[in-house]
Amino acid sequence: MSDITLASEITVEEIQHAGDDAMIAHAAMVSTRGGAAHVPDPPEEKISGLIRFLMANRHGTPFEHGSLTVRVHAPIKVWREWHRHRVGWSYNEESGRYKDLEPVFYVPPRERPMIRPDGFKSARPAFDFADKDQYELVRMHLEAGYRTAYLHYQAMLEMGVDRGLARDVLGVGIYSACYCTANPRGIMAFLSLRTYEPGAKFPSRPLHEIEVAARKLETIFASHWPVTHKEFCENGRVAP
Ligand SMILES: Cc1cc2nc3c(=O)[nH]c(=O)nc-3n(C[C@H](O)[C@H](O)[C@H](O)COP(=O)(O)OP(=O)(O)OC[C@H]3O[C@@H](n4cnc5c(N)ncnc54)[C@H](O)[C@@H]3O)c2cc1C
Repeated sequence: MSDITLASEITVEEIQHAGDDAMIAHAAMVSTRGGAAHVPDPPEEKISGLIRFLMANRHGTPFEHGSLTVRVHAPIKVWREWHRHRVGWSYNEESGRYKDLEPVFYVPPRERPMIRPDGFKSARPAFDFADKDQYELVRMHLEAGYRTAYLHYQAMLEMGVDRGLARDVLGVGIYSACYCTANPRGIMAFLSLRTYEPGAKFPSRPLHEIEVAARKLETIFASHWPVTHKEFCENGRVAP
């Protein structure tokens, strides 16, 4: 019986990307320039002015001309939420039928808010920090549950039970890896819902762990599409 690993890290690693802010501007310019659309190296003010206009007026399709692929390692509870983003996203996830699931389980870091405060409202969930004892207890409960679950999982695998059935005993805290590819428009739609920004036009209250992943994705996105990202933020983080 193998031991379990407890992890708090959620990783988002860039695999490849295509496109940039200029490509989005080019795609939009075909609208008025037709066959003469491709202006080599349009000036930066032209690109940023056009992207600002497109964002503010919700002309979304030029933002589909680009692609970013990331490999994400996160607990399955993150995948249950991430995979709800259907439009402009492609996914391939590690199989629980064709391979044994590795015994890597999520435990929250100390700074993860987790205790429901008095007056908690589930429509606007916000949590307090756990004190030291509460935090240790949370970790203890999670670890005990994970250990028991993985023991039963392994016992069933040793019996020759279908992996796709044996995994039913494992919870949503076990890690899974996924390749995710999206265009800038899909990424902005995701970021607007999976990050909390009090100044956003429609502030969302996402699950902490998907927000951790979303913030890492946002850093990669902003590095390749800095103007688009800036205008997205200045437009109240509303996806065009
Ligand atoms: C804070 C939070 C709490 C949530 N709580 C719950 C919950 O309790 N239960 C639950 O089931 N889900 C919940 N969700 C998931 C949510 O309902 C969406 O499934 C998820 O956010 C994906 O959003 P989306 O449909 O806009 O994304 P996508 O599927 O990527 O769609 C993008 C856009 O395409 C358009 N579109 C896509 N499909 C259609 C369609 N069939 N018809 C018309 N237009 C379409 C819409 O404009 C949509 O906004 C929650 C999400 C958040 C952020």
